[in-house]
Amino acid sequence: MLKKEYLMVPGPTTVPERVLQAMQRPVINHRGKQYETMFSTITAKLQRLFNTRHEVLTFPAAGTGSMEAAVVNLLSPGDKVLAVSIGVFGDRFGQIAAKFDAVVEKLEFPWGTAAAAEKLQERLKADQRHEIKAILITHNETSTGVTNDIKALAEARGNHPALLVIDAVSSLGAIELRMDEWGIDAVITGSQKALMIPPGLAFLAMNDRAWAAYEASAMPKFYWDAGDAKKALAKGQNPYTPPVSLLFGLEEALTLIEEEGIDNIIKRHCLLAKALRAGLKALGLELLAEDAVASTGVTAVYKPAGIETKDIQKIMRERFGITLAGGQKQLEGRIFRIGHLGYVAVTDILVTVAALEITLTELGIDVALGTGVSAVQWAIIKEQCWQ
Ligand code: PMP
Repeated sequence: MLKKEYLMVPGPTTVPERVLQAMQRPVINHRGKQYETMFSTITAKLQRLFNTRHEVLTFPAAGTGSMEAAVVNLLSPGDKVLAVSIGVFGDRFGQIAAKFDAVVEKLEFPWGTAAAAEKLQERLKADQRHEIKAILITHNETSTGVTNDIKALAEARGNHPALLVIDAVSSLGAIELRMDEWGIDAVITGSQKALMIPPGLAFLAMNDRAWAAYEASAMPKFYWDAGDAKKALAKGQNPYTPPVSLLFGLEEALTLIEEEGIDNIIKRHCLLAKALRAGLKALGLELLAEDAVASTGVTAVYKPAGIETKDIQKIMRERFGITLAGGQKQLEGRIFRIGHLGYVAVTDILVTVAALEITLTELGIDVALGTGVSAVQWAIIKEQCWQ
């Protein structure tokens, strides 16, 4: 049977046609005028997206590369770091810092919940001697479908001098993040999620406090050296050969983002999540995150008792061409995740819930066909994301 492909995973996400076409252009010289103009334009658009007046540095890398870039550019071996974790990616940030001999203390919260600002405040208050040099926090925890309230967490830091470093790999471009206004010192992200281009680019933005930390940082770095990237950027260049084709794609994707408008994109993601959650709940499915902390980019769903997540994924993929993600680490086999990040429309949510109803029915789960779809439809009609 003919299948259309729906990549409903939280990254890599579907790449729009216009972006794919842009990436087919012949490669150009990365030391020439045309590239310099393009890269400077891209950087200005990235600054608007990050809500920062500071440079946004572009690295050829996976998102994890930008996490490592943040660590090696901002810290020195022996520095104390507070790794706030609500899941797999919060843990990863701490692990990277530990690999580079930072002294990592974890501030953990149960998976499926968000980081409590008062707990952060308490911990920082207890740090009278200001030993904590940096706080690493995930904005949107992709493994659990929970979004941390970065504004509240930034406020909780108060006057403590620790740098606030935010992993926005699965949020920037979909979920509101205001780097300068909220006092965030460094933000990292990747290309393959809300930015709607293939994997392979990673970004790091640093404010003046972060650049001062860079000057003092004794961690070894060459590929990730933010100072080198900043110097090259002043000329519209990179310190080494950039993946030019991906940058063609990025330029087009950022144009798409500006055409829709970031505020509208944030609202669209709100509607996608609300409609999907309404549909899933109407089917009697249990969601990992509560509404108040639920991500608007990815939704984690407990599997119904008596069936396996891999069977749900298999039928969805093989019969309907819809790819869903499984659970990670301790959530493996217990949840499946639906990504609705980037180039996703409400029609994709309708299709996914409709196919899920059939899938669950075929697996012997008692669902009234149409119940989930109807709830999605009503949410699309009634939801207040635009007000
Ligand atoms: N942080 C978060 C929040 C993520 O979702 C991911 C990717 N799922 C990463 C970091 C790592 O990105 P990558 O897989 O591109 O290295």
